[in-house]
Amino acid sequence: MKVKHIDHIGIAVKNIKQAGKFYTDILGLKIQGLETVADQKVNVAFLPITDSEIELLESTEPDGPIARYIGKKGEGIQHVAFRVEDIDETLTELKEKGVRLIDQKARLGAGGAKIAFIHPKETNGVLVEICERD
Ligand code: ZN
Repeated sequence: MKVKHIDHIGIAVKNIKQAGKFYTDILGLKIQGLETVADQKVNVAFLPITDSEIELLESTEPDGPIARYIGKKGEGIQHVAFRVEDIDETLTELKEKGVRLIDQKARLGAGGAKIAFIHPKETNGVLVEICERD
């Protein structure tokens, strides 16, 4: 597999508007997009930094995955995403290596990326996403 760079860091927040102020007002980054991913019950704000971005994740429902994450662990870094050249090939390779996956097949994520998650039991507790974008 070919990992190109860190695509984004996903940060779980209770409120994008409030949490975004640090990144915009203090760090001087810009929110370049806001998107709702309905099946994940999440609003996502994108703040690009060169080849990478910060993604702020805010739950749209009290029972969404991000709300449950915050309930258990509090706000903070929720996942790290690596950009790969070919996600289907990467998933095949991970399966061959016996790596447990949350997503057996790539699915459509925020920003039109093809994404899949690796099981955090394989990564010492880090939720790792792999993604492919055009
Ligand atoms: Zn992500």
